Amino acid sequence: MAKFQVDSPNVTYGDRYIEADYDYCTSRVEPASDGRYKVTPNTSRLRIRTERQVPKLGVMLVGWGGNNGTTVTAAVLANKLALSWPTRNGHQEANYYGSLMMSSTVSLGMGSDGRDVYIPFHDLLPMVHPDDIVLDGWDISSLDLASAMDRARVLEPSLQEQLRPYMQKMKPRPSIYSPDFIAANQLERADNVMGGTKREQIEQIRKDIREFRAEHALDKVILLWTANTERFADIVPGLNDTAEHLMRSIKEDASEIAPSTLFAVASILEGCAFINGSPQNTFVPGCIEMAEKANVFIGGDDFKSGQTKLKSVLVDFLVSAGLKPVSIVSYNHLGNNDGKNLSAPQQFRSKEISKSNVVDDMVESNPVLYKPGEKPDHTVVIKYVPYVGDSKRAMDEYTSEIMMGGHNTLVIHNTCEDSLLASPIILDLVILTEICQRITFRGPNQTTYQPFHSVLSILSYLCKAPLVPEGAPVINSLNRQRSSIENIFRACLALPPVNHMMLEHRFA
Ligand code: NAD
Repeated sequence: MAKFQVDSPNVTYGDRYIEADYDYCTSRVEPASDGRYKVTPNTSRLRIRTERQVPKLGVMLVGWGGNNGTTVTAAVLANKLALSWPTRNGHQEANYYGSLMMSSTVSLGMGSDGRDVYIPFHDLLPMVHPDDIVLDGWDISSLDLASAMDRARVLEPSLQEQLRPYMQKMKPRPSIYSPDFIAANQLERADNVMGGTKREQIEQIRKDIREFRAEHALDKVILLWTANTERFADIVPGLNDTAEHLMRSIKEDASEIAPSTLFAVASILEGCAFINGSPQNTFVPGCIEMAEKANVFIGGDDFKSGQTKLKSVLVDFLVSAGLKPVSIVSYNHLGNNDGKNLSAPQQFRSKEISKSNVVDDMVESNPVLYKPGEKPDHTVVIKYVPYVGDSKRAMDEYTSEIMMGGHNTLVIHNTCEDSLLASPIILDLVILTEICQRITFRGPNQTTYQPFHSVLSILSYLCKAPLVPEGAPVINSLNRQRSSIENIFRACLALPPVNHMMLEHRFA
């Protein structure tokens, strides 16, 4: 049951759909002959349709037995069962802190007292509740989820004890192990490995998806990669540059196709959205083309959880305040298995690339501060220190030029359990992907409704290196990413975008 109803001639609540007529206002900018810009406001009327029925959703995690996989599973169970557990600071209850959908709010509008009325983001449109998600997945390590949760060293022992009876029944399905793509130091846990050719492996994954769907009578399944970071795959003409070449290469069992790409292909062939939470280039051009042709959503890359999230706020603040960041240096050390895998040079390189472009759009937005092509120095270091386990340390130094040649240096030290930041992001990614599958648009001259582009860029808020449709700008600024989700969802209800003008309070 929706917590509110919009009272407007532009919205119809039908049995099956919420339909909204929405004026999408933009301004087009062109250079004029006198060297100035010509700016033309433009309004186009869209009809947006949102399917109201919330489906029964299954999520399959690749890397289910890892720190993120076990922590997100434990969190969903603990919330569903309303568990609480003793800690040295008192009783702790299960919650979804860190989830944009579950624990942040949006303003519906202004109440009669002139103040905003806030509701949870999740209540804006009919969305899947994380408690209702059915989880399953694959891992190259055979440990059941209870033992894998122990190995992760993330959750309190008294919570683990309560979860053990449920989680020990959960066993990851065998997965594709390729020592060429993840670090050699992962060999010792690879005891749950799928054999066969690449083609047979894809068939097995498709069978696993179908089995899972049937077993739990699911309406929809979404796959998400939270397995180890792979090295980048080479993009080779004839190998993986088109959908046709990629499928041919799979049939020929070509070696330069990463396990994550095989999972993505299997997922697309089953009509299931695929999200990549790690930095590698799973979505080679042939894979993107496959998703586009099949009208299946893909999204990624690399969860934006800690250091990068802060960077995408801080640099946005500095640049939009007219200060000029000139040097950004980020050190990380962590001691979980992700850190161990990233201690190998090729896997570190994937992470370094993913972390490095995050300030580009903000820098490019300000030609007053930066000349064309000019960028701040930006360095990222990651070290593996086993003792700190999942408690990741991130140290950042931001140096900016301020007025008249002055300098401002900000130093930030961030300590946090990595998997407790990533788990709510995993839930947001699948909840957002699922609702986007139920939203379609019809433009002024269109007769049929169109879905979002297969490359689901609305997920950018949750990703360090956002994947966007070819030619579309990459937005890293966290505030812009958040307001795009909020305003698109408001548009589904014919509500105007949030503009923060508050003119009611500003005129005499
Ligand atoms: P983890 O090492 O604890 O878990 C990864 C799991 O994947 C392991 O259980 C491993 O056995 C399994 N695995 C490896 N290759 C596999 C394959 N081919 N198929 C199936 N399973 C496979 O790591 P984590 O801390 O859970 O992180 C997972 C991924 O998420 C990493 O790539 C990491 O870089 C990325 N990530 C994490 C965060 C965060 O905050 N935790 C943020 C951004 C990105």
